Amino acid sequence: MGFVIPPPPQPAVLIAASRDSFPVRRIWCVGRNYAAHAREMGGDPNREPPFFFAKPSDAVVMTESTLPYPPATENLHHEVELVVALKAGGTDLSPEAALDCVFGYAAGIDLTRRDLQEQAKKAGRPWEIGKGFDASAPIGLIHPVSETGHPASGAIRLMVNGQLRQSGDLSDMIWSVGDVLAHLSKLVRLEAGDLIYTGTPEGVGPLHPGDVVNGEIEGVGSLKITIGS
Ligand code: MN
Repeated sequence: MGFVIPPPPQPAVLIAASRDSFPVRRIWCVGRNYAAHAREMGGDPNREPPFFFAKPSDAVVMTESTLPYPPATENLHHEVELVVALKAGGTDLSPEAALDCVFGYAAGIDLTRRDLQEQAKKAGRPWEIGKGFDASAPIGLIHPVSETGHPASGAIRLMVNGQLRQSGDLSDMIWSVGDVLAHLSKLVRLEAGDLIYTGTPEGVGPLHPGDVVNGEIEGVGSLKITIGS
């Protein structure tokens, strides 16, 4: 008894100040979780409960990487986000119980092929191909919760070639980390190994080949990626 092909490698993310890494099971993302970004995308931040989409687990790319400009787009966008890494899970979790499932936090970027996402929205089709492409989930080192606590405030920023493009504060999140996890756990089972990208502040915009992108979250961590050709 065995596999008919070699099993695919386990996607993983490095842990800060450790030689161990975090194995990735699933990647979930939250849409429109900062009021100003919801407005810039044409939504109403007051009326919408959190909604979710997924990326493949092997879309993670470690900080300090150069990643290729993805195919089939002329409008690759950056979205800097707080990423939650789970060490446990469950269903129908309360926000408090959900926070007990957190292993740690990282800074990440939800890369988006905005033109493909907009076309899909207009056609009433799934967004998948605008969001869940290869190397679409850059991430910094994961910092354990023993180091970060559960960050509820702190500056979240993204710079492109040294110029500030996105600037917000974690306290501007419409749904807190506990709320996000509680909502998601009513829709799917959460498990150890899950990563959740929790939404982006305003200022999303295009990236071009050669751009150097720095994301940072006060009290959590940072990441740096370069867009190749
Ligand atoms: Mn996003």
